Amino acid sequence: MNNLADKQPLDAPALDVAGIRAQFPILERQVHGHPLIYFDNAATSQTPLAVIDTFRDYYSRYNANIHRGLHTLADEATAAYEATRDTVRAFLGAAERREIVFTRGTTEAINLVAHSWGRANLKEGDEVLVSLLEHHSNIVPWQLLAGQLGIVVKVIPVDERGVLDLDAYRALFTERTKLVAVNHVSNAFGTVNPVREMATVAHERGALILIDGAQAAPHQKIDVREIDADFYAFSGHKVYGPTGAGVLYGKAELLEAMPPWQGGGEMIKSVSFDVPTIFADVPHKFEAGTPAIAEVIALGVALDWVADVGIERIGAWEAALLQQATDAVSRIDGLRILGTAPDKAGVLSFVVEGAHSQDIALLIDQLGVAIRTGNHCAQPLLAHFGVTATCRASFAVYNTLEEVEIFTAALERVIGMVR
Ligand SMILES: *Cc1c(COP(=O)(O)O)cnc(C)c1O
Repeated sequence: MNNLADKQPLDAPALDVAGIRAQFPILERQVHGHPLIYFDNAATSQTPLAVIDTFRDYYSRYNANIHRGLHTLADEATAAYEATRDTVRAFLGAAERREIVFTRGTTEAINLVAHSWGRANLKEGDEVLVSLLEHHSNIVPWQLLAGQLGIVVKVIPVDERGVLDLDAYRALFTERTKLVAVNHVSNAFGTVNPVREMATVAHERGALILIDGAQAAPHQKIDVREIDADFYAFSGHKVYGPTGAGVLYGKAELLEAMPPWQGGGEMIKSVSFDVPTIFADVPHKFEAGTPAIAEVIALGVALDWVADVGIERIGAWEAALLQQATDAVSRIDGLRILGTAPDKAGVLSFVVEGAHSQDIALLIDQLGVAIRTGNHCAQPLLAHFGVTATCRASFAVYNTLEEVEIFTAALERVIGMVR
């Protein structure tokens, strides 16, 4: 995997991929006797040593509960946890640190908005627009509210490339439309949605916009103020960080007005049985209970790591990998790529005529290649395209052009076996 310099395509950025790979111990392992080729990055990315070491350091030196201790370890843990809030604020281009709420991930962040903002602001007959490209985590919370409050969930359609139909989007608005909930980048197809334009439309029509950024955060610069996002969510484990830590960004005035969604310690100023309990200020109002302290600290380390490599360079490198992979698999007889939007993120979804996606994934795993098969938590989208499952290869900064070559050869071999 060394000596990649001569293999870099002309438009790929200068990137020391070998040096990056050396920071990911998992990439050294073998699977079924073959070097691991990890192409399931849209499900979870691998973690660099700096992130892994954070856990050892935290539990070896300053493990303590935060915000309420009056001792050295608690102070250090609190400072490190709160430092991640500043890192995330800068990462998202948010105005204020109190606009950053820590959650377990994207799913929990969206559920927070549904339970808190949704229950306080939506009434029977109100409408929420989601897109056909959504992950289940940005569909089901709204369906639950539909069942409980009688709100209506409407779906923004896509064209044959997997690109959102913006005319149809505009036409869906009524005076009852209160919220647009869309992903920034589709995990199933890699489509990058024009969220800034969509936010403008939503705001003109008096609706808010929640953006699921789980697939955007690892690949491109995000600026919530430039987008004018009301809410923005992402997960640490897809951006070289750990599982268990994610983020909800919300505009300060919205968060201020929202009721808590979970009650408990850490989210109160004072509790009484005689006078009303007083809640903590944002963001702590939304962080009930002991949070994932080590994970949040490690998330900060992961975002620093991304900043060191450079998010633009990461995105450009993945685009080069995607281009090479797309060109190579397009030559395979009977292979159909789903999701052909221009300027996609590093996701390659495909089906092969006469071959079950699951068989392909299982057999290619025998050759050391990890790809995903299934509905990618986007059943409505796949159903629309007439399939129940696709194979999906998704790329990260530590993947190489050589791996793409090995993957393509392995794929051809496997297809030959199952057809
Ligand atoms: C992975 C993903 C989610 C869910 O993220 P969790 O970390 O599982 O909460 C939501 N939306 C998109 C687009 C995703 O890719």
